[in-house]
Amino acid sequence: MIEELVNLNELYQSADWKKEKHVPMIEIVGEIKKGLTISLRLQVGKEIEHPNTTEHHIEWIQALFLPEDEKFPFIIGRTEFNAHGASINGPNSSTVYCDPTTTLTFKTEIPGIIIALSSCNIHGLWRNTQEIKF
Ligand code: FE
Repeated sequence: MIEELVNLNELYQSADWKKEKHVPMIEIVGEIKKGLTISLRLQVGKEIEHPNTTEHHIEWIQALFLPEDEKFPFIIGRTEFNAHGASINGPNSSTVYCDPTTTLTFKTEIPGIIIALSSCNIHGLWRNTQEIKF
């Protein structure tokens, strides 16, 4: 079975975001209250900056939410970072670069787990999780 050859936990690498520059940080802005909007600030490289060049950059950050009574997670949203210095004059020739940070919001009446995913164009997929409790 091909599933036995592919370990998703290894494909989506994880570590302490303060020590590993690829891991998406999850910050909950403000209070968490049942049924009210939860604001998630997601950022790669808050403590240790990740390179941001045409050749090496963060492509996107995505958030999912797995309520504790559900079998499958809900995709909350995804932000693409598409400007990395390239222009008609070649790589790193413009001054336009996206910052790998975004804010996504959602509501839930059930507690659960936030899963943040990020992608570096040369170092692959990364993940982080945070519990939502009322
Ligand atoms: Fe990287």
